[in-house]
This record gives sequence, structure tokens and C-alpha cells, in this order.
Amino acid sequence: MKPGDRVICIDDRNWYAIPVRCICAGLIYTVNEVFTCKCGNVYVRLLEVDKYYNMWCAGCDVTEYTKMFFHIERFRLAGEEESREEIDEKAEISFPYLN
Ligand SMILES: [Zn+2]
Repeated sequence: MKPGDRVICIDDRNWYAIPVRCICAGLIYTVNEVFTCKCGNVYVRLLEVDKYYNMWCAGCDVTEYTKMFFHIERFRLAGEEESREEIDEKAEISFPYLN
């Protein structure tokens, strides 16, 4: 994953007590930045989520007021076809837990 890649959110569930905000499984986003935290966790920032927030890193157990980022494992690269369409039914079929 690199800046400019179109990715699909595949996991918007809360892994910890702190709720996930601003991403939704099945939707396509554009990677703005990929970075590795000093604890080793890899995060992405998204063009579509251009907001500052008190973000918490589970690895560091540190909260920092910064542009929102999300764990890279919440996303996978979108295929060519998927990139052209914003949302389609395939997302629902692939992720039945949404229902
Ligand atoms: Zn960290």
C-alpha cells in the first residue's frame, strides 16, 4: 500500500474500547500516507478523512492530537473495477457480518 492507492475498508469494528471513527467497511478510500509507528504498528492516513482528532495507538498506549489514522489491516487494495465504482453489492456479499 502506498500513497494514491485506492483501498477498500474491510474492518471498521472496534478492536479496543475506543470507538473507530470516520471509516466504514465496504467503502473505498484513497491512501494519503502510510507510516510505521515507533511501536511497529503500521497505519494509513486517508485523503477522504482529513480531520484532526485525539488518536490513540494501542502499541504505544499514547494519545496524540494528530490527523486521523487507521491500522493498515483494516484495508485491502481495491481492484481496478472496484476503484471505478464507488460502492457496489459485492461489498455486502463479501462482508455478511454487516447485516
Ligand atoms: Zn505506536
